[in-house]
Amino acid sequence: KFNTNVGQHILKNPGVSDAIVEKAFLKPTDTVLEVGPGTGNLTVRILERAKKCICVELDPRMAAEVTKRVQGTPEQKKLEVMLGDVIKTELPAFDVCISNTPYQISSPLVFKLLAMPNPPRTSVLMFQREFALRLTARPGETLYCRLSVNAQFWAKITHIMKVGKNNFRPPPQVESSVVRIEPKIGKDRPNISWDEWDGVLRVCFVRKNKTLRANWLGTKEVVNMVERNYRTWCAMNGVAVDESIVEDGDDAAGDDVDMEADAGPDAMAVDEDEEVPDFFKEQQQQSGVPKTKSKRKKTRVHELVREKIRKVLEDVTELADKRAGKCDETDFLRLLHAFNEEGIHFS
Ligand code: SAM
Repeated sequence: KFNTNVGQHILKNPGVSDAIVEKAFLKPTDTVLEVGPGTGNLTVRILERAKKCICVELDPRMAAEVTKRVQGTPEQKKLEVMLGDVIKTELPAFDVCISNTPYQISSPLVFKLLAMPNPPRTSVLMFQREFALRLTARPGETLYCRLSVNAQFWAKITHIMKVGKNNFRPPPQVESSVVRIEPKIGKDRPNISWDEWDGVLRVCFVRKNKTLRANWLGTKEVVNMVERNYRTWCAMNGVAVDESIVEDGDDAAGDDVDMEADAGPDAMAVDEDEEVPDFFKEQQQQSGVPKTKSKRKKTRVHELVREKIRKVLEDVTELADKRAGKCDETDFLRLLHAFNEEGIHFS
């Protein structure tokens, strides 16, 4: 009956459903977004406490089930069911998000909630245990990743409770945890563009156990991406770009970083759970093919960009030899500011 391919693991323990909704500290004036109501075990509890519950459900059978469950009750008019994929759906305004999250969308859901211009006051979300631990991991810990940095930059994350697999029907393969996400608001919300911040993190975490030097200077794709962004900034600021070709033998800032030299045996393995930027995927697809020197002539502006990256990493921040897995929020902030000072932006 249940489709586990879309994460249909229904909560069968009423005590857990009660606890999840209680931990959201709902007010009678709240509009709640519930992701994936399924048969409505959380929904009925939300409807008792809130002004309105908007459910987004992918499976039409489940959408029909939750609708039927409240039909003829006083709560019926408080429920709105939207059919579709929550990640692709344009969401209306809401105060609180509650979800027993289908595990396939854990990461995009968190990013979607955090990137909202007016994020919900609180989100109480059930995730696979390891994902929950990633959200709260600190620098140097095994599970520390781009998700940890982003989540903790924009929000306070609290691990609320562990939930064993036997509380679900059918039971999933792994244990779960409930976390609370409270976005920083007002003066606590970082005054930084989401895209700028995430743009820096994406490159730093392409391979979190390699040095920042290797991640930023070791692939042409990253340097080319930075060059494109720099050209955009120049165009917007009336700065001339030097398109002249670097003479043979004048290639002072050539491809001098050896990716493999700096890495372990799984150098080319991308960290599980990291989203791989498109420019990096292209490079990966080519891996395994012996590297040949690019025939493309290097322009002065390309060399200038390489030099700017080197300067930011080595001279300004002195982070070139550090690995993203060990960097904290302050390190990433310093990096972003230093790039911006050089006219390099990521949005
Ligand atoms: N809330 C119910 C409960 O706790 O008993 C069901 C939770 S079940 C883990 C996840 C639900 O999310 C399923 O009903 C599934 O159909 C739905 N779902 C899966 N992917 C979705 C998506 N991308 N957008 C919205 N709903 C989704």
